[in-house]
Formats: sequence, C-alpha cells, structure tokens
Amino acid sequence: MITDATIAVLDACNARCVMCDIWQHKDKNYMQPEEYRRLPSTLKHINITGGEAFMRKDLPELLWVVRETCPEARIIISTNGFQPRVVEKMIERMPKVAIRVSLDGVGSLHDEVRRIKDGYNKVLETIQILKTAGVKDLGIGATASKLNQHRLYEIKQLADRLGVQFTCTVVHNSDIYFGNHSEIEAEVPVVKPQLQKIRDSFLNSAKPKDWARGYFVDTLLDYLDKKPRPISCTAADNFFFLQSNGDVYPCNILNIKMGNIRQETIEQIFARHQKTRELCSKCNQCWMICTVIPILRKNPSKPLAWVTKNKLLYQIKKWTGKEETVLRPTTAEPRPDYNRLPESNKVKEELTEVEV
Ligand code: SF4
Ligand code: SF4
Repeated sequence: MITDATIAVLDACNARCVMCDIWQHKDKNYMQPEEYRRLPSTLKHINITGGEAFMRKDLPELLWVVRETCPEARIIISTNGFQPRVVEKMIERMPKVAIRVSLDGVGSLHDEVRRIKDGYNKVLETIQILKTAGVKDLGIGATASKLNQHRLYEIKQLADRLGVQFTCTVVHNSDIYFGNHSEIEAEVPVVKPQLQKIRDSFLNSAKPKDWARGYFVDTLLDYLDKKPRPISCTAADNFFFLQSNGDVYPCNILNIKMGNIRQETIEQIFARHQKTRELCSKCNQCWMICTVIPILRKNPSKPLAWVTKNKLLYQIKKWTGKEETVLRPTTAEPRPDYNRLPESNKVKEELTEVEV
C-alpha cells in the first residue's frame, strides 16, 4: 500500500542556502490545488515541502484538497520560517497540520548557512507564532554541513528549551532537488561527536518518539561510516516524491522520473515500475528523515529492538552509576528475545507508529 509521500508544492524559494540550489529555480508550471485530488487516498503521512511552501498564496486551499483526498493522512509542512507574518495569516485557514521549521545554527550561524539577514530571529518569531496559534506538532529540523558541523547539539538544546521537537540530517546531493554541494558536506570526524550527543539525549528522554529519533541518529552515524544499510529502501513501493509540476520520482534523490501524476495515477505509475522498485531496494544513497521514516514504519522491528536494548542499558548504567554508552550491534552478538525484556511491551505499544 502507498502510505507516504513527499510533495514539493513549489520549485522556488526565498532563502539562499549554501547546500541547496532550489532558490535559483523559478517554478512556472506548478500543480493547481484541484489537481491534488489525484493523490492516492491511502496516504497516511504527507510531507509538504518546496522550495518554500508558504510562498504559495493558495497553500491553505491546496492543503484542504489534500485533507479531503487523504482523510487519514498526517500532513507535515517543512518551512524555512522566513515569513512569520505570512505564516501567521495562513495557519488560521489551514486544516490541522504538523510543522517543521529549518534551523541550522543558533544566532548568526543560521544566517550564514541560509544567507538571509536576520533569518534566525525570523525563525524564532515563526515558532512563537505557531505555538500561539496552537500548533502542537511543532519541531525544528537541522541540516549538518561543514559550516555548522561543530555546533549541531546547540540546536537540539535550543529545541528542548523552546519545547519543540528536533530532527537532523546531513547535507545530501540530488540532481533533481538540492543540486550537488559535496564541497560543504559535513566532515565525519567533526560531526560524529555532535550526532552522538544528540542520539544519547534522545535516548535519555522519557518520550518514546524521541527513542525512535535516537535510532534514526544512530543509523545516520552508520550511514556516515559507510556501513551496510540496516533495512532495504522501500521507495517506489510504499512512498514516492511528487515534484511541483506533477513529475513522480521514487524519492527526492534518485534521478528516475517514473511518470507524471497529471497523466496517470500513482498506482498506474507504480505498476509499470517493478524494476525501479527493485533498484531502490538495493540503493543506499541517502539517510534522511523523510525517506527513512516510511521504511521504518514498514519494518518497525529494528528500531524496536534498538530502543529496547539501549533503553535497558541506559537504565542499568543509571542504577550502577557507570558512564552511559550506546550498545553497538555486532554480528557475533546473540540476539536477545525482545519480547521478554521488561520494557518491551511499553516500547512496542508506543512505537507502533514511528513518527518524526
Ligand atoms: S534548503 Fe530549503 S530553504 Fe534552503 S534554498 Fe533549499 S528549499 Fe529553500
Ligand atoms: S536509498 Fe536511494 S532510493 Fe531510497 S530514498 Fe534514498 S536515494 Fe532514494
């Protein structure tokens, strides 16, 4: 079943980010709100992105069409948060949504990465506006590059102080989306200690959703170490990427145009693309929240096992007063029976839906 989609509603942006070229595009052929009735009604998780989604004046109308077409979907909007006043006006007219605001540094560092004057303050203002408007599912998303690789944990601490959620990833390259920016990719030895602190902080949280995020960061570390992928990719199987002009891709990284939703339904496009699906299942070109979470939802046993094991370890370390470390799975290590571990039932209950 097709459950997840990343939907770019506009291929244009008002930021000037160092790790993305979308701001250099000028979208003239974007889909009209009514055309989103062609989405599969089975979608359960929809990430609305751009470019900058809030640059579309008809975003509320578009989201109502999505809501009516996919009544069970959780709709998440990714925004750079640079238009607080626009967000304030639009949020009142939208269906219930989750919002993730991008933040790549505390203070002027964010402005340096996004190349927008006073950008940091605008982001904080947007977050405040969204809180006042009653948006409960609110978070910050950070992208690690050479510029902020040594100060990533600060952003997590800020998110905690603001009482909002936090996710992070590293710079990715994509011919069809961000462009190629390998020159500013985060340096693994520098960014790793920051990611480890973030992972441990997630693990120490009382919230089960944070434990799943801890697993994501732990596996991001493995990705940076070029370790084999823990779970096969399910792009073009249970998720896809929809470009603003209707072009359909397995994800926003892989340059395989599968069809266009203006001409065919997603189900028809997927039915013609068995080979693409097989190719994706062997691919290991990314480890981003938007492409990993659909995979984890389909295969929850690995995050469940990781969380159970590491929460238990954390508890033991707390009782014994020893320094906390995260258990690294090895092939030689016997697999515990997770169903018998005391925390297992609680974890299972609360992680049935892996969310970010
Ligand atoms: S990363 Fe996001 S905010 Fe920055 S230019 Fe690209 S689409 Fe715009
Ligand atoms: S692993 Fe490959 S196919 Fe899967 S989402 Fe990432 S880039 Fe796309």
